[in-house]
Amino acid sequence: MATEIKTKALFGKTPEELRVLIESFGQKPYRAKQLRDALYGERVASVEEITTLPVELRERLEAEGYTVGLPELAQTAKSVDGTERYLVRLADGETVETVWMPGGDGAELPEADGDGYKRATICVSSQVGCAVNCQFCLTAKLGMRRNLTAGEIAGQVAAVLNRHGVQVGKDRINLVFMGMGEPFLNYDSFMDAVRILVHQIGIPESRMTVSTSGIEPAIRRFAEEPVRPNLAISLNASNDTVREAVMPITRKWNIEALLEAVRSIPLGKRQYVTFEYVLLGGVNDQPEHAKEVLALLKGMPAKVNLIVWNPGPGVPYEQPSQESADRFHKMLVDGGIPAFTRRPRGRDIYAACGQLKRTVEEPGLVSIQ
Ligand code: SAH
Ligand code: SF4
Repeated sequence: MATEIKTKALFGKTPEELRVLIESFGQKPYRAKQLRDALYGERVASVEEITTLPVELRERLEAEGYTVGLPELAQTAKSVDGTERYLVRLADGETVETVWMPGGDGAELPEADGDGYKRATICVSSQVGCAVNCQFCLTAKLGMRRNLTAGEIAGQVAAVLNRHGVQVGKDRINLVFMGMGEPFLNYDSFMDAVRILVHQIGIPESRMTVSTSGIEPAIRRFAEEPVRPNLAISLNASNDTVREAVMPITRKWNIEALLEAVRSIPLGKRQYVTFEYVLLGGVNDQPEHAKEVLALLKGMPAKVNLIVWNPGPGVPYEQPSQESADRFHKMLVDGGIPAFTRRPRGRDIYAACGQLKRTVEEPGLVSIQ
C-alpha cells in the first residue's frame, strides 16, 4: 500500500498537532485555538484569510510552506436531478471524485431547498483508485494509486460545503463514504477524518455511513470505536460461489466470516446494519438468491439497500430487468427484511455508485474558477 504523502497542509491536523505547531513558533496556546476555529469553523481557504492571527505569524507560516491545503474542486458536471460530480485535485496532482446530492442519498425522496435551508448528501472518496477489484465496479479498473490523507478525506467535505455555502448545524448534511476506494483499507486516515468531521466541523456521526466491501479485521476494529459512523456492508451476493465471482475478496474472508465480524458490532436499540446488494442481471437477482439472503440475515438487525447495477464501459454485466428487481425487493420485504431500492443519482454524469472513475480531465466537465 502506498504511504501517505507528508504534507504541510494545515487542514486535517488534529487540535493537538496544531497546538504543537503553534508552540514551535513560540506562540501562546490560544493562537492554536484561533487557527483551529479558522480551519474548521470558518473553513478558510488560505492562511491569509485567518485574520485572527497576527500578520507576522501568517507570513511565517506561509514562508515555511504551510498552506490550508483544501483539495481543489477543479471541475464539475451537473446532472438533471441536481447531483453534482466534482473532479477534485489533490496537492500532488492526483484526482478523486466527490458527489453532492441535494435532497437525500437516493434512498429517500428529494426535498426542495426552501428558505435557503439545505439538505444534501455528500459522497466522499477515501483512496485514489481501489485495490479490491470487484468485477462490476468501474473504480476497480484504475487499480490502487494511493491512500488519501485524513485532511484530503475531510477536505473534500469542507470544499463542497464551501461551494454550497452550507451552514453546519442549521443545514442537514449526510455523509456517505462510498466514493472511490475502500475506506477500511485506509482505516487510520479514514477514522482520523471522521473525528475531524465530527468534533471539529460538527457533523454528527449518526449522519454518516461508511461502506465496506468487507475487510474483516477492520470491521472488528471499527466495532471498538467510541465514535463511529453507521456501517454498510457490500454483500452483493447470497452465497460464496457467486460472491467469489463478483468480489474476489471473498476468497480471503467468506460471507460467514464477514457476518461474524458484523455481529461483533454493538448496536443500540433502534440501530441496524445496512447491507448493500448490487443487482446484476442473471447473476444474483433470481428468487433463489433472495431466499439465500433472507436465510443469511435471519435474526440480524439488518436492512438491505438494493442498487440496480449502473453500467460502465468495459464492465461485463447486465442490468436486472425491472421485474426481477421488483420481485427481489418484494421477497425480502415479505421475508421480514426491510429493503429499499436505491434511486440512482446522477447516472447521466457517471456520478452513480461504482461509476466514479473519471480521474482525467474531460472536455464535458465545466471548470470551477
Ligand atoms: N469500496 C466500498 C465503498 C465504495 S463502493 C464498497 O465497496 O463498499 C459503494 C457501493 O457501490 C458499494 O456497495 C458497491 O458494491 C457499489 N457499486 C460498485 N459498483 C457499482 C455499479 N457499477 N453499480 C451499482 N453499484 C455499484
Ligand atoms: Fe473498491 Fe468498492 Fe469498487 Fe469494490 S465496489 S472495487 S471495494 S470501490
